[in-house]
Amino acid sequence: MLFLEREMARQIAFVLPMFSDHSRPDAIKLNFRCPICGDSKKDKYKSRGWFHEHKGHVWYGCFNCNVNMSLVNFMKNYREEMYKEFLKEKFRDSEPSKPTKPVEPTRKLVTQAELEKKFSLDRCDLVKRCDLLPLEHPVIKWMTGRVIPRDKHYLFYFTGAWKELTNTVKPDTYRNVEPEYRLVIPIYNADGSFSCMQGRALGNVDKNQRYLTVKPDDDVNKLYGLERIDPTKTVYYFEGPIDSVFIPNSLAIVGGAMAIQDAPFKEKRVWVLDNEPRSKDTIERLEKLIRAGERVVVWLDCPWADQKDINDMILKSGATAELIQQYLVENTCSGLSAQRRLSEWRKLNEPQKRKHDRVDHSASLRWSGTAEV
Ligand SMILES: [Zn+2]
Repeated sequence: MLFLEREMARQIAFVLPMFSDHSRPDAIKLNFRCPICGDSKKDKYKSRGWFHEHKGHVWYGCFNCNVNMSLVNFMKNYREEMYKEFLKEKFRDSEPSKPTKPVEPTRKLVTQAELEKKFSLDRCDLVKRCDLLPLEHPVIKWMTGRVIPRDKHYLFYFTGAWKELTNTVKPDTYRNVEPEYRLVIPIYNADGSFSCMQGRALGNVDKNQRYLTVKPDDDVNKLYGLERIDPTKTVYYFEGPIDSVFIPNSLAIVGGAMAIQDAPFKEKRVWVLDNEPRSKDTIERLEKLIRAGERVVVWLDCPWADQKDINDMILKSGATAELIQQYLVENTCSGLSAQRRLSEWRKLNEPQKRKHDRVDHSASLRWSGTAEV
């Protein structure tokens, strides 16, 4: 019967706003805006409703209104048509005398109070979420300048007190907490709880201070975008968080290298390193990935070849996210064909005249470990 419950839960969740799939092979876990309380009225991105599994059944819970009930009861109360369909399916093969009573919940979802004990940028008054800032705000102008679409601004925060914020996440990091402006890029765990953060300098700073990563401890999740991944679809690994927001279902590794075998979504992942055929480091990492049997994108015959990353391709060469996505799909390769492409690509060794000054050139830092504070 669990199979049927999963099927019904998927059908219900799939059409709800902000749906995302966090299922593992052995259990479903679906997230969306709670249709019972409507989630936040003000914030259309809040999604605190979950279908999850417990003791062989699917349950519905919401972190906002704190409802917690079996999927069967959820359907009975809120999806009558589906409930009828469920009963029909359920009794098609077997004919028990009456429907079995759903098991009462023994495990509560994490309560709102428990969640509130955890650190959250949304409750921190040192930051402001970027989609809530006016278009004239300097950080929004900066983001618009980097062509980061407005509908992605909710993923970023602004702080004028970076050092104080850092001390909140990782106490005693800075002794003096003079003001410092940064774009804050939060990294979440798969369940949406805060893991660590990156701060992107907005002014002119030393290259190795451009991206700073703050981790409460060394074991935290370092995959940017993990909470938004659909594990049933292709997952792209990028070098930088900002690049990753342009392409659906993408991740970026922040604050340190990650061993290939530790990277999740083994069957679904594709590695997209920066377009830097002249970088020895990039070539070496690509070789390593190809040898390990990984799928990669080699930027051969790339229409935006003089740009090193997705953000610059869009910003300076007129590419669109859709065209780049199509290029990625069409140019994913592995094994021998990847090796062939790589050896052609690395021949592009002629230094080309760059059309634009490369002010922002932090790729090598971003991959192999950004500065940590
Ligand atoms: Zn709710």
